[in-house]
Amino acid sequence: MKKLPRVLVVEDEPSIAELIAVNLRHNGFAPTVVFDGQAAQREIDAVLPDVILLDWMLPGESGAVLARQWRKHERTRTVPILMLTARSDESDKVQGLDAGADDYITKPFSTQELLARIRAVLRRRAPEVVNDSVQVGELVLDAATYRVSFQGQELKVGPTEFKLLHYLMKHAERVHTRGTLLDRIWGDHVFIEERTVDVHVKRLRESLGEAAVMVETVRGAGYRLTAQNPSARTAQNSRVGAA
Ligand code: CA
Repeated sequence: MKKLPRVLVVEDEPSIAELIAVNLRHNGFAPTVVFDGQAAQREIDAVLPDVILLDWMLPGESGAVLARQWRKHERTRTVPILMLTARSDESDKVQGLDAGADDYITKPFSTQELLARIRAVLRRRAPEVVNDSVQVGELVLDAATYRVSFQGQELKVGPTEFKLLHYLMKHAERVHTRGTLLDRIWGDHVFIEERTVDVHVKRLRESLGEAAVMVETVRGAGYRLTAQNPSARTAQNSRVGAA
């Protein structure tokens, strides 16, 4: 028999937790429900789930804090996190993604929507298993060790930004539309807005420091990673002009 995907449900409202668990069970998932971060951690230490459904507002540590912790740890780094939130504010969504959540879903949500999103985050996991190393100019990404460096200096890059950078580097010098990036990095963009790409590109640029100029916005088209550093070109041109 096929192993059922394990879903850790971290939700402190018993009625919602129960409703989610029942629906997951009926649809081929193996849910485990816990009510707070401590219990979630114990569960994760015992059995690593395939996906975590994480409520934002929890007693003790908030969902955002927990997501951030799990993203930092080797064991939980690649486990997809789907944030459940009662807030629909753009800034809260960004904060959730910021904390390392792969996606968020706003309460109240339909069972179908929840299931579709869980399936989507599970599908999305596949591309990041590719453990290769890629270099563009002086920017180097090693998927096996999860490291990014520029001019030999290591950079800190979040999990989604890492996937985004990996894709852009493997297909450097080409322009990618937001739609393509959603398809390739998120795997299924039915429920993700194109704006999400912009949020992650912004975050990626912040992580890249001086190498940020390598990620170009191509107006009306999308994004491109280029070794033809435009600011370096400008600097060179001005030197030529001065000579
Ligand atoms: Ca709650």
